[in-house]
Amino acid sequence: MSDRIVAATAHEDDADAGLRPTRLAAFIGQSRLKANLAVFIEAARSRGEPLDHVLFAGPPGLGKTTLAQILAAELGVGFRMTAGPIIARAGDLAAILTNLQPRDVLFIDEIHRLPPAVEEVLYPAMEDFKLDLVIGEGPAARSVRIDLPPFTLVGATTRTGLLTTPLRDRFGILARLDFYRVEELEAIVRRGARILGLELTDAACREIARRARGTPRIATRLLRRVRDFATVREAAPVDAELADEVLRRLEIDGLGLDALDRRYLRLIAEKYGGGPVGIDTVAAALSEQRDTLEETVEPYLLQQGLIRRTPRGRVLTRLAFDHLGLTPPRSLDQPQLFDPEDPGAA
Ligand code: ADP
Repeated sequence: MSDRIVAATAHEDDADAGLRPTRLAAFIGQSRLKANLAVFIEAARSRGEPLDHVLFAGPPGLGKTTLAQILAAELGVGFRMTAGPIIARAGDLAAILTNLQPRDVLFIDEIHRLPPAVEEVLYPAMEDFKLDLVIGEGPAARSVRIDLPPFTLVGATTRTGLLTTPLRDRFGILARLDFYRVEELEAIVRRGARILGLELTDAACREIARRARGTPRIATRLLRRVRDFATVREAAPVDAELADEVLRRLEIDGLGLDALDRRYLRLIAEKYGGGPVGIDTVAAALSEQRDTLEETVEPYLLQQGLIRRTPRGRVLTRLAFDHLGLTPPRSLDQPQLFDPEDPGAA
C-alpha cells in the first residue's frame, strides 16, 4: 500500500520542506472548524487554562496532525506526539503523562488503537488529571494516585465510531475533518509551489488540485512529483499539459482515482454485477486489508458518489459505471426502497 502515490497515509518524502502550515491563519480550508478552534483557543488563553480535550476524526492526510501542532503553537505551549499502536503498556503512557509541562498538548494519533489497559489509564488522566498506578504485585500491591499537570489531549482517528464510548465521552471538542474542495486544494498547491520555488500556471495548479482526492497530503505529494518532471525537463512555468502528463504517468485519472481505486470499482462492476457485495469479499479478492479499503479507499469513493454502503454490502452507482466506461446492469435503475444507506457505516 505504501507505494500508492495517492495513498493518504504518511510517506517518508512527506518530510515537509516547510509545507506544513504552523499557524491557524496559514491553514487553508476547514473554515468552520478553524473559526471554532480560534474561539476555543482564545478562551483557554485568556483564562490561563488548558484547552479542553480535542478529538479530530477524518480520513488520513486531511490535516489532523497539522491542526494538533497548530493548537499547541497558538496556545503557546509544548507539543508531544505519540500514537495508539506505539503505547504498548500502561507504564509507557504513565511515563509520557508525568513528563508533560502544565497545559502541554499531547497528541495521540490513531487513538482508537490504544490497548484497553492503556485506555483505562487515560480516563482519570483526562477527567481529573490523576494517574492511578499499581505498585508491587500480589498481596503487597497497592495503588497510588499521582497528580498530573493539567494538559490537553488531542486524539486523531479515522472514524469516531472506532472509539469506545467512555473514551469518546471524555473529549470536550469533537471535530470532523472533511475532504477539501478543489478551490481549497488549489490554494494549498499554490502555497506549496511558492514554498518549493516552483512556477505553475493557474491551469496546472487546478489540474493538480482536481486530482488530489480531496486531500492536502496527496496534493503536496503530487506537486513534488510534478516538480521532479519540471526539473528534468527544465520546464518553467509548468503548464496544465505537463501536469496532466505527470499525473497520467502516475496512473491518476481525471477524478484523482489511482490503480487501486479502479481495481476496487472494476471488481465490483465486473465480478459482482455492481453489487451488493460484502467488504470482506472485496478485500479478499483484491488481496488488500479490509481496514485499508475502509479507511483510505472507500471514503473518497463514497464522497464522490461512486459507491454506496448498504446493509447488504457495497453497491456501485451509475456514475461509477460511467467513469469506468462500462454499461450498468438493468437492476441499477430499479428503485431501492428497502435498501437504505447503512446508518452505521458513516
Ligand atoms: P493527518 O494527520 O490528518 O493524516 P497531516 O496533518 O499529517 O494529516 O497532513 C498531511 C500533510 O498535508 C501535511 O504534511 C501538511 O503539509 C499538509 N496539509 C494538511 N492540511 C493542510 C492545509 N490545510 N493546508 C496546507 N497543507 C496542509
